[in-house]
Amino acid sequence: MPHVISNVLERFDPDSSFVPVVFDSPHSGNVYPEDFAHSIERIHLRRTEDAFIDELFEDAPRHGATLLCALFPRSYVDPNRSPDDIDPSMLQGAWPYRANPGEKARLGIGLIPVKEPGGVVYDRALSVEEACRRLDDYYWPYHRELEQVLDRAQQRAGSFWHVNCHSMPALSTSVSPEGPGVPRPDFCLGTRDGTTCDSAFTELVERFLSNLGYSVTIDDPYKGAEIVRRYSDPMHGRHSLQIEINRRLYMDEASISRNEGYRALKADIGRLVETICDFARARSGPRQL
Ligand SMILES: [Zn+2]
Repeated sequence: MPHVISNVLERFDPDSSFVPVVFDSPHSGNVYPEDFAHSIERIHLRRTEDAFIDELFEDAPRHGATLLCALFPRSYVDPNRSPDDIDPSMLQGAWPYRANPGEKARLGIGLIPVKEPGGVVYDRALSVEEACRRLDDYYWPYHRELEQVLDRAQQRAGSFWHVNCHSMPALSTSVSPEGPGVPRPDFCLGTRDGTTCDSAFTELVERFLSNLGYSVTIDDPYKGAEIVRRYSDPMHGRHSLQIEINRRLYMDEASISRNEGYRALKADIGRLVETICDFARARSGPRQL
């Protein structure tokens, strides 16, 4: 049974011998909070979910890894944004924290998204109180849980290997870094220009996927965002890699349903997980494990 924080997250602990490997899926949640009060049609928000990513990685605990999945939707509050990536002028009231709106907030897809490819999310200004509640009740509990899981793995084994799991539309959209309509590779690995993990880890994943026939890019079009930035420190054994999977490999994007490629991709992801766990096991002292 997973450890659950109701409506916020589920954590699946290893059910075979522990390895210091953590997968987290911050964008696959689809439990829409009652106070969301968006005006855009729900289907447009549903299309921003990284649907089924939690299920594609669900075998992780069987290989000794930990899997953490958000339950709330990323359109409500986005755990993969910096807590200050917010434009306070969109809020009613005085924002009590530091604000430093970056490129994502300017595109309308910052900490609290206000614009999606389907249109504008709200027909009202959000209050500071509801924005703070989203941080206190969803954003920070997700980050606290992930931080604890990673810290514990490092305490136990000296290092951790963390994969931050996402999916991307087959074609870029109006809020994409490269502008609309550009076809995506099968996989994009994000390392923030080689700063979030040892290159041996990136090469392991790249080689494994390429050998299966997938096209793989590194840091293009996604370099990796807040989560891999925040927790990584490869010089001190903290390795984080962002992985983006092209949705056309496993789902129909319009109807949000699994397609005929789903089963084959899930089997490949299972083998990828096993390969990463073997890699981490070989690099961790047997004494600690
Ligand atoms: Zn994502």
